[in-house]
Amino acid sequence: MKKITDLQGTFELHNGVKMPYLGLGTYQSENDQEVVNAVQSALDYGYRHIDTASAYKNEEGVGKGIKASSVAREDVFVVSKVWNSDQGYESTLNAFEATLEQLDVDYLDLYLIHWPVKGKYKDTWRALEKLYREKRIRAIGVSNFMIHHLEDLMESSETIPMVNQMEFHSYLTSQELVDYCVSKGIQYEAWSPFMQGKLFKLDICKELSEKYGKSPAQLILRWNLQRGVVTIPKSAKSERIISNADIFDFELNADEVAFLDSLNRDERIGPDPDNFNF
Ligand code: NDP
Repeated sequence: MKKITDLQGTFELHNGVKMPYLGLGTYQSENDQEVVNAVQSALDYGYRHIDTASAYKNEEGVGKGIKASSVAREDVFVVSKVWNSDQGYESTLNAFEATLEQLDVDYLDLYLIHWPVKGKYKDTWRALEKLYREKRIRAIGVSNFMIHHLEDLMESSETIPMVNQMEFHSYLTSQELVDYCVSKGIQYEAWSPFMQGKLFKLDICKELSEKYGKSPAQLILRWNLQRGVVTIPKSAKSERIISNADIFDFELNADEVAFLDSLNRDERIGPDPDNFNF
C-alpha cells in the first residue's frame, strides 16, 4: 500500500510530479460565489488539488477561488480537461489557451482529454504532448479511457499518459483496467467516488461507520486512497469539504478493503466510455 499520511500527501506520477491524492471536485458547482467559496474553503482548510474542466463552465470561478484563498498558485495542483467539441490538434491548443485565460493562471498542473472521442483523441494527445514539451503543463493524461483506447493511443504517442481519471466506486472497481494502468505507470483517479451519494446507504458503510466513528463519505474516500487511487469528491458546502478530508486518523484493514472491492457490479452512474454520443 502506498503511504497515506495527510491532506497534502501525494502520489508520484511517472514523470516525477507529485499529485495530491485528495482533491476537490467541482462538477455542478455553479460558476458564481458557490464555486469561489468552495475552492477558497478547500484551499484554506488544507486541500492542494482542484479538479475542473472547460465543460463545467466554472473555470473562472475556480480561478477566483484560488486567488481568494491564502494559498499561492504554485502550491495548488490545478487540473482541467479539454472538452469533446474542442478535440483535434489546433482546436485543443486554442482550448488550452482559453482555459488558462478563464482560470487566470499561466500553466496547468494536469490537463486531461475528457473523453476518448473517436478519430480525434490522437490529434488531441499530440497537442497535449506539445504543450507538455513546452512546459505549459506539468503532467498530461486522459479520462474515461478503457484499455483499448489506451493501447491505441500509446501505439503512436511519445508519452505515456500520467493519469487516467475514471468513474470509480464500490459498484465499479474496473479491476482489469486498474491493473493495466498500474502496469504502465498510469495513476488511476476516481471521479464520482460517492456515486453521487448513492453509496452512502450501503450496509457495510453503516457498519464501518459505527466501528470507526466515521461517516460513509469518509470511509469511501479512505478506501480510495488505500487502493492507491487519487480521489476528488465534490462538495459545494464547506462543512462537507472539511469533513471529507478528515480521513487520516484511521485505517481500514485488508478484509474491509477487500469487502468494499467485492461489491463491484460493473454499474455506472455516468456514461459508458465505449458508448457515448456527446
Ligand atoms: P461525487 O461522487 O463526488 O458526489 C458529489 C455529491 O455528493 C454532491 O451532490 C455533494 O453534494 C454530495 N456530497 C459530498 N460530500 C458529501 C458528504 N460528506 N455527505 C453527503 N453528501 C456529500 O460526484 P461527482 O460526480 O461530483 O464526482 C466528483 C468529481 O469528479 C466531479 O466534481 C468532477 O470534478 C469529477 N468528474 C469527472 C468526470 C469525468 O468525466 N472526468 C465525470 C464526473 C465527475 P454537495 O455539493 O451539496 O455537498
